[in-house]
Amino acid sequence: MKNIVILGASGSIGLQTLDVISRHPDKFRCVGLSVKSRIEAVAHVLRLHSGLLICVEKAEDALRLSSEFPQHQFVWGEDGLIQLACHVEADTVVNALVGFIGCKPTLAAIEAKKNIALANKETLVSAGKIVMETVRRNNVSLMPIDSEHSAIAQCLSAHDKNIRRLILTASGGSFRDKTRSELDSVSLADALNHPNWSMGAKITIDSATMMNKGLEVIEAHWLFQMPYDQIEVIMHRQSIVHSMVEFEDRAIIAQLGTPDMRIPIQYALSYPQRLPIELESLDLVKAHHLTFESVDFKRFPLLRCAYLAGKREDNSAAALNGANEAAVAAFLANEIRFIDIDTFVSEAFDSMIYHELNTLEDAIAADKMGRDWIKNKISGGNV
Ligand code: NAD
Ligand code: MG
Repeated sequence: MKNIVILGASGSIGLQTLDVISRHPDKFRCVGLSVKSRIEAVAHVLRLHSGLLICVEKAEDALRLSSEFPQHQFVWGEDGLIQLACHVEADTVVNALVGFIGCKPTLAAIEAKKNIALANKETLVSAGKIVMETVRRNNVSLMPIDSEHSAIAQCLSAHDKNIRRLILTASGGSFRDKTRSELDSVSLADALNHPNWSMGAKITIDSATMMNKGLEVIEAHWLFQMPYDQIEVIMHRQSIVHSMVEFEDRAIIAQLGTPDMRIPIQYALSYPQRLPIELESLDLVKAHHLTFESVDFKRFPLLRCAYLAGKREDNSAAALNGANEAAVAAFLANEIRFIDIDTFVSEAFDSMIYHELNTLEDAIAADKMGRDWIKNKISGGNV
C-alpha cells in the first residue's frame, strides 16, 4: 500500500490522480491533499474518508472547513502546503500544482525523503539544478507525470542508456494552423479549446504559444540529464506518439497511447509495476495515420527562448518562466491579447539581466524579476 499526498487535488491532474487512486484501493491510499479554494471539487473524497490532512489557501476557509468536516485536519497557506508535502504518513507526493508556487513544497517533500510524482513542470524549469541535487542527496525517486517525459522514462526503462537524442512530440495547441498575423483577433475561448487534451487553463494557453513545449525541453534536460542539442521537438498533431528516444544504433523507441493523463499518472504511482486501467485500447486502425512535421521557431518564438534560456544554465529559465506565468495570468484575466503573450515574454527575455542560479532564493528572485517585468510592461511603466 502506497500512501499518497496530492498537492493541487482540485485541478485537472489532481482530480485524475484521485480517480486513479480510487480504482486501486488495494494499492494506493490518499492521506492528504490541497486545494486552493475549490473544496467542492474534492468533497466526495472528504465524505468517504477520515483523517486526511487538507491544505487550503486561506486561514478563514481552513477554520470554516474544520467545523464542517471535523473528521479531517485543516492547514493553510504556503506553510500548510509544506506541512502537507512532509506528511509523516506519505510515501509519495504528487505535485499537481500549477506554477512556480510548487517549487518550495517539492523541495520540502524531497528533504523529508518522499518520492515525488511531478506534474508541476515549472518547478524543474525554474530550479531544476537545485531540485535534482536535492533528489540525489536524499536518494528519492522523481517520476514524471508529464506525458512526454513519462513516455521517455518508459522508453528508457527497458533499454541501455546510449542515447543519441530525445524526441519530444508537440500537438501544436489550439492555433497550430494559424499564422502569426491571424493571432491578432483570437479570443480567450478559442485559446482554451485544445484539439486533443482537456487540461487546466494555464497549460492550455502554454500549449497554444508552445511555451509548454519549451518548458518541457528544459524539464527533459533535468530529468534525463540530456544536453539541449540532443533534445528535439517535432509536431505530431494526433498526440498518439507521446515521445521517442533514439539510441546510438539509430533504433528509435516510441511510447504510444490514447491521450489520457491517467496513464502517465498511474505509471508514476505504480512504477516499476504496471497496473490495469479501465480504458479502451488504442485503435491504431482508427487512428489511421500519424503525421510528423518540423516546428517553425519563428512562428513559436517562446520555444526558441526556452532553448536559449536552458542552454545558458543561469537564472534565465526561472525569469522566463516567471514572465510567462505573469503574461498568461494577464491574458486569462482579459488584460492583454493572446498575441501579446509571446511578444511581451520574448521582449522580457531579451531585456533582463541574468546571474548564476545556485540557491532557491536565486530562483525566487529570478521568478520575481520576470513577473515584475511583465507587470510593468502591462501597466505602461518603464521596464
Ligand atoms: P489546474 O489549473 O487544473 O490545477 C492546478 C491546481 O493547483 C489546482 O488544484 C489549484 O487549486 C492549485 N493551485 C493553483 N494556484 C495555487 C496557489 N496559489 N496555491 C495553492 N494551490 C494552487 O492545472 P493542471 O492542468 O492540473 O496542471 C497542473 C500541473 O501539471 C501544471 O504544471 C501543468 O503544466 C502540468 N501538466 C498538466 C497536464 C494536464 O493534462 N492537465 C499535463 C501535463 C502536465
Ligand atoms: Mg506534456
